[in-house]
Amino acid sequence: MILFQPPLPPKYSALTEDEMALAIAERKRTLGSRLVILGHHYQQDEVIRFADFTGDSLKLSQIGAQQKDAEFIVFCGVHFMAESADILSDDRVKVILPDLSAGCSMADMAEIEDLETAWDFLVDECGANLIPITYVNSAASIKAFCGGHGGACCTSSNARKVLEWAFTQGDKVIFLPDQHLGRNTAYAMGIPLDRMVVYDPKTQRAAGFRPRGRSIALANDGQLTPDHVRNARVILWKGHCSVHGLFTEAQCNEIRRSDPGCKILVHPECKWEVVQKADLAGSTEFIIRTVNESPPGSRWAIGTEIHLVHRLASQHPDKAVRSLAGIQCLCTTMYRIDLRHLLWALDELVAGRVVNQIKVDPETKRLAVLALQRMLANVAPQPVAIK
Ligand code: SF4
Repeated sequence: MILFQPPLPPKYSALTEDEMALAIAERKRTLGSRLVILGHHYQQDEVIRFADFTGDSLKLSQIGAQQKDAEFIVFCGVHFMAESADILSDDRVKVILPDLSAGCSMADMAEIEDLETAWDFLVDECGANLIPITYVNSAASIKAFCGGHGGACCTSSNARKVLEWAFTQGDKVIFLPDQHLGRNTAYAMGIPLDRMVVYDPKTQRAAGFRPRGRSIALANDGQLTPDHVRNARVILWKGHCSVHGLFTEAQCNEIRRSDPGCKILVHPECKWEVVQKADLAGSTEFIIRTVNESPPGSRWAIGTEIHLVHRLASQHPDKAVRSLAGIQCLCTTMYRIDLRHLLWALDELVAGRVVNQIKVDPETKRLAVLALQRMLANVAPQPVAIK
């Protein structure tokens, strides 16, 4: 969901970084236990040092829900993360995203109307016994659709276990919004690439017709027909992360050529070709744990967001940690949460005003909780590799 953030009052432009940092610390003291600040691993250091808890999106939302004294959760992440925190929190808790324009390009690639269109074709037209699985990096409406249609959420840590569960419930899975996590996970489970097809919502929408009784547009050329669907075990939504999508096979080849002793460690949101070239692939928590536990002197080329890579490098001066890419792979939307917006949101809370509250309607919440509960009932999230 793309939201508009109105400009901040001019006084915030005049503040130095030190002034903002002092003011934020002061507002935190004033609000005390009424306030919890959550900071995602990809957040910039200037902001994350004010976080009471750091982690990945689901872990943070779960931690937020456990803070029984908190009235306000300020989520230094992106929009879908704040939605998840609201879904899991008591109704009295207000979840705040300091900059409304901090969305997620991947989550925005799956819109509920497009999923309903796809469902009509895949289930009604093709007769697929289909279980919808959504990565937690998706809008609340998508999670609710999965909850309402017998499906579940998954994280990059537990995607395999959720898919294994899904195949006990139906013959096929539609996995959204990240085609790469879906493909990498299904392939690691032994499902060949030719039993996976890609559904392209954009091409379908541009075609301007509901698919009933017609063939449907497939990603990269060709058409997705009922026969394709019947042959497939996994239908991958054509979505991706704009950050992890920047890593390439050529970068892996260059590391192999220039530094043969360096291990390549990537997130499963990277393309299949990149994951195949890597030594290890796993969730953000897996990446952190792997570097933490590696011996001094080890060398790592990491395929994930640059702030996390820099943080790992500075925490481990006895190891050589660098980005797999020569370019800066930055989550530009999360980067919009800066000191200025954090201070503004806290100033408003101290003044008794709640700004930028992210609120999920009760019915969407109820169904999204179902999808999350099915995930949690079937798996214990663990930082495991998928290769
Ligand atoms: S890193 Fe990718 S998936 Fe994560 S918030 Fe940014 S755009 Fe979304």
